[in-house]
Amino acid sequence: MLKTREVLEMCRRCYVFKYDNKWHFEKPEHLRDRDPDERIPVRFSQCSACIEEALAIYDMEYI
Ligand SMILES: [Zn+2]
Repeated sequence: MLKTREVLEMCRRCYVFKYDNKWHFEKPEHLRDRDPDERIPVRFSQCSACIEEALAIYDMEYI
């Protein structure tokens, strides 16, 4: 069985990782020592920076 905490959330635009309720450019520490060939399940979303950027672009279309 897969543990919930092993599902990594990743920004689909800039590939930062979400853990500890923050976005990080580094992989979580518990994944760094893993076999690089081991597949870690990833759930794609958007980080706060990309959401803000997307909103800014969206706003500009209406100026
Ligand atoms: Zn992002």
